[in-house]
Amino acid sequence: MRPPGGCESDEAAPLWKRELAEAFTRAPALLAYLGLDSASLARDIDTARDFPMLVPRSFADAMRRGDPADPLLRQVLPLKSERKRVAGYARDPVDDTAARRAPGLLQKYAGRALLMPTGACAVHCRYCFRRHYPYADSGPRGKRLDDVLQTLADAVDINEVILSGGDPLMLDDSALAELTSRLAQIAHLRRLRLHTRLPVVLPSRVTASLCRTFAECRLRPVVVIHANHPAELGPATRAALARLRACGTVLFNQSVLLRGVNDDAAVLAALAEALFEAGVVNYYLHQLDRVEGAAHFEVPDDRALTLMAELRARLPGYLVPRLVREEPGAPSKTPLL
Ligand SMILES: *Cc1c(COP(=O)(O)O)cnc(C)c1O
Ligand code: SF4
Repeated sequence: MRPPGGCESDEAAPLWKRELAEAFTRAPALLAYLGLDSASLARDIDTARDFPMLVPRSFADAMRRGDPADPLLRQVLPLKSERKRVAGYARDPVDDTAARRAPGLLQKYAGRALLMPTGACAVHCRYCFRRHYPYADSGPRGKRLDDVLQTLADAVDINEVILSGGDPLMLDDSALAELTSRLAQIAHLRRLRLHTRLPVVLPSRVTASLCRTFAECRLRPVVVIHANHPAELGPATRAALARLRACGTVLFNQSVLLRGVNDDAAVLAALAEALFEAGVVNYYLHQLDRVEGAAHFEVPDDRALTLMAELRARLPGYLVPRLVREEPGAPSKTPLL
């Protein structure tokens, strides 16, 4: 992140970078912004810095003021309960280390490979399975990026590259344009997919030049956003999604089922309707990856299956997401039936 200070290049930085530089990094400041008394919550809040709080103002603005149980706040507020060690919760629950094909390149499933061009995110979700990932070797550049692209060029069975991370939209427009054009030169690639939370937490990231990159790319752009609650799809996010659609991007959403956030059939149904209104396919509802520090978000499988039955009873089939879990070594995400 750029240092504070008003030099000229800061003035020239795009809006999203300026907004990111002003993101909340301390719980007391965020709580004060929301009209909450941090003294009364101090007992529960964790101030350790190993996975520090990070919350853009645009995401904070979607939270309900004065509500310590707000479902958006709950996703990002560091709590002492994250320190509790729980049996079955590991540092690498999805076995990413085993799927590494090159530095910053993972392949688990046929036809698609996942490239991590950066370890950075615009928001730190407390339940994230990558919270302990060794990001130091992601974000390949120079010779290492050449190696990754060569690995992809040699892997003729791969037709889709997924940019994930971290969050690939943390790269700036010129870096993304360059990466995209190098990927487009690999003849057997057909689709370019991005897994990103930025249209939700920092909608100003969807710039005109990003949309131009997608519109002009030979590869078909697919953007999988990550929203867990209907309150995350406010006007600025819906406008960002409309800009993405307008440049030919196909939009999907994946959510994580989280206790105290969206473990409620009415909330999940409202999310499904809001996604449809925004032109986004409600793709996956993930059972939580069992990562150390996230046990307090877990929703038991039997409760998850009951919620799915309630959703099927409320919604047309095309609005019902697939409930899945990631299992190490499986050939795809595993559906829960
Ligand atoms: C989840 C994931 C994918 C994408 O799976 P889809 O079912 O195609 O959405 C691809 N690669 C890796 C390593 C993944 O974890
Ligand atoms: S990778 Fe996604 S879920 Fe994890 S912290 Fe970043 S934005 Fe949140």
